Amino acid sequence: MFSVVTGGAGFIGSHLVDALVARGDEVLVIDNLSTGERGNLAAHLDGEEVELLVADLLEDGWQERLAGVDRVYHVAADPDVRGGASSPASMFEESVVATMRVLEAMREAGVPEIAFTSTSTVYGEATLIPTPEDYAPMIPISVYGAGKLACEAMIGAYCHSFGMRSFVFRFANIVGERSNHGVSWDFIRKLRADPHALEILGDGRQTKSYLEVHACVDAFLYVCDRATETVNTVNIGSEDWVDVVTIADLVVDAMGLESVEYRFAGGDRGWVGDVPRMRLAIDRLRALGWRPPLDSRESMKAAIRAQLGAA
Ligand code: NAD
Repeated sequence: MFSVVTGGAGFIGSHLVDALVARGDEVLVIDNLSTGERGNLAAHLDGEEVELLVADLLEDGWQERLAGVDRVYHVAADPDVRGGASSPASMFEESVVATMRVLEAMREAGVPEIAFTSTSTVYGEATLIPTPEDYAPMIPISVYGAGKLACEAMIGAYCHSFGMRSFVFRFANIVGERSNHGVSWDFIRKLRADPHALEILGDGRQTKSYLEVHACVDAFLYVCDRATETVNTVNIGSEDWVDVVTIADLVVDAMGLESVEYRFAGGDRGWVGDVPRMRLAIDRLRALGWRPPLDSRESMKAAIRAQLGAA
């Protein structure tokens, strides 16, 4: 297959590229390198299978490269949920406008399939946990979540209007090697600066589900190979959850530190648009035959090991 991965130089996108190359796909990565890095694709850039086109989806010049493509994996976005509170217009552009531009380019080039990286934040502050895909009403509480939900709506409309198919993945927190954001990354950075004290956002009792990135990509492609609807919307996460203080303890242990004082910023959540509890129902994934190989704690431990080894 000939695949395009937007955002393929980023954390999740580059792992997806690894998996696509291992399957024998030819891959064109379109990435503006805003948060992604060329180094994440280092294993491939000397070979024939992967081409990196450094381009911004919000500008022109990449659309004609979609000719002959079998599937677009639209992964590019600004993944910083917090950023939406300080610059909502930019979040909207990076999410909704960029996705519209991808859909339009696909329609003009006749690309039949799109796989899209959505998020648990589309559910807002769900009262039903674990939260299933058909949960309602969906009222996102962050600009990031609202933008992703708008993207999902446009993707559905394009599929039904223009004969495309889609795979929409609502991710829990994805963690692991090459990630340069998220809770364990933040704790490692802070503890390197001051190994005696750690500022923890919220009250530390925020409890969420985490999944290691290789497992995430495995689930992602597993669904793309098997799901048969016009629009296939699937949660991806582990089946349990872990609280923030436990993650802090795991990081402190892994760094071999002792007597670290935890200082809580206070409140029941980390930032505007955060939710105190998140866990996704993965019955659709299970019905297709996929089970998470790691739980939240194991996923987080693997991520911490990788992040400590990287810097
Ligand atoms: P990331 O920042 O590592 O990857 C995003 C990539 O997109 C980067 O390589 C960046 O350079 C590129 N990009 C951003 N804007 C672009 C633009 N306008 N044009 C071209 N390239 C652009 O983030 P990630 O954590 O790998 O997230 C990947 C996707 O998964 C995002 O859509 C994110 O919203 C979604 N997601 C991530 C998580 C998570 O836990 N990491 C959870 C839910 C959803």
